[in-house]
Amino acid sequence: KLNNEIQELKGNIRVYCRIRPFLPGQKEKQSVVDYIGENGELIVANPSKPGKESRRSFKFNKVYGPRATQAEVYGDIQQLVQSVLDGYNVCIFAYGQTGSGKTYTMSGPDKGSPEEWGVIYRALNDLFKISQTSTQSSLAVPDANVRQVSETADVLGLMEVGFKNRARSATSMNERSSRSHSVVTIHVHGTDLKDGASLNAGLHLVDLAGSERIDREVVGERLKEAQHINKSLAALGDVIFSLSAKSVHVPFRNSKLTQVLQSSLGGQAKTLMLVQLNPEPACYSESLGTLKFAERVS
Ligand code: ADP
Ligand code: MG
Repeated sequence: KLNNEIQELKGNIRVYCRIRPFLPGQKEKQSVVDYIGENGELIVANPSKPGKESRRSFKFNKVYGPRATQAEVYGDIQQLVQSVLDGYNVCIFAYGQTGSGKTYTMSGPDKGSPEEWGVIYRALNDLFKISQTSTQSSLAVPDANVRQVSETADVLGLMEVGFKNRARSATSMNERSSRSHSVVTIHVHGTDLKDGASLNAGLHLVDLAGSERIDREVVGERLKEAQHINKSLAALGDVIFSLSAKSVHVPFRNSKLTQVLQSSLGGQAKTLMLVQLNPEPACYSESLGTLKFAERVS
């Protein structure tokens, strides 16, 4: 009973955790994730301190192991995406250190096959498919400017432009690493032809900048940028935590990121946090940091 009440209180925020596989060509090492249970449980262990004391368990709404497919993950997200057409504002964001699979989950790999397409592509396909067969719906994707689009290809073209504008810099972790947040916003407007009721809802699909601690060697502009990013991620954490704790005051105004996402966080909005983990032993402390961030809101 108590569990049900807690579930109800936190009903609008869900947290899924995904552990990416070791990459091809990499030697299979001991994963930081020691155990994955059926009910969203996972246990991480400190690889340099074997023993019971170094094991910590976490519980989320779902946990995906390294063999989970894009289709499997999206299958658990699909209803949330479709609820946009019932008028809900929805925010889906991927959180984790650089190299943990955020972009893979949200977009898929570069030049991937359709089976490898990520959440953004699948969500757009779903929304267009449904809107074309339903009474009336048009979709528009704004970034700085709002443009009318009619099929997934249009949106992908726009996203391409967005990605090119996205600030990038090589870090020690990963060359493709991006030190910026990427937000795709889909506005849905429609009118029910039967009763004339109008529908206005939005979907935010967010590939956050890497959450890793700032490298000691980082200086100057890069340091400022990194501090700014970490501040905005902390602000997002504070907002989600306030919402999950049902606080009266939700600190949306503390960062640009939370202001942009405000309409799809809190109130009747539905929020999904996709927590990404890198299984490498060297990533243990970052993984633990990521899990603690996620635990605070779940
Ligand atoms: P991030 O966006 O968090 O920095 P990426 O999505 O770029 O991380 O993932 C890092 C690398 O791992 C990429 O080469 C990516 O293709 C690969 N990868 C991530 N998740 C998976 C997965 N579930 N299956 C296969 N490869 C993955
Ligand atoms: Mg990325």
